[in-house]
Amino acid sequence: MNVSCSTCLELISPSDDLSVAPCGHAFHSPCIAKWLQTGRANCPQCRKRCTAAQLRRLFLTESADVSASQAEDPARMQGRVDSLTFQVRCLEKEKKAAAEKAEEEGAKNAALREEFREAERQRQSIKNKFNEAKAQARKLTAHSTFPHIFHISKFIFTPFHCRYRF
Ligand SMILES: [Zn+2]
Ligand SMILES: [Zn+2]
Repeated sequence: MNVSCSTCLELISPSDDLSVAPCGHAFHSPCIAKWLQTGRANCPQCRKRCTAAQLRRLFLTESADVSASQAEDPARMQGRVDSLTFQVRCLEKEKKAAAEKAEEEGAKNAALREEFREAERQRQSIKNKFNEAKAQARKLTAHSTFPHIFHISKFIFTPFHCRYRF
């Protein structure tokens, strides 16, 4: 229990000497007595009419087991269970959304990776073709084309009378 006396602001304990005004507000008996002794005739909390003669003693019974007293309130427990169930449901929804997003991102990433691999394969194939062509060109220039041209040009540009000297 976490209830305070509105005149002294101290916590009210079930073992305290307590009084209740006709409006229903409860105070330490000495506190409300002091308040009324100053000439006021009202409740210190709600200002409704209250005289010393109208005060009633209040007796509270303290529960031996605090958790037992909480368990006695099934409506409160049900409320707590409902609130927790709702929170769990919200978290599950968030988790599912996050998983779906991760899956989507994963699929996107996989597609990008595949695209990249395809581009890499194409690059490699073009490079291979280029190397092949280069090798072929080298072979051609080294062994045939230039010497042919050289011979032909020598033949063409050599004056006729000198041709058979070579
Ligand atoms: Zn008090
Ligand atoms: Zn009151």
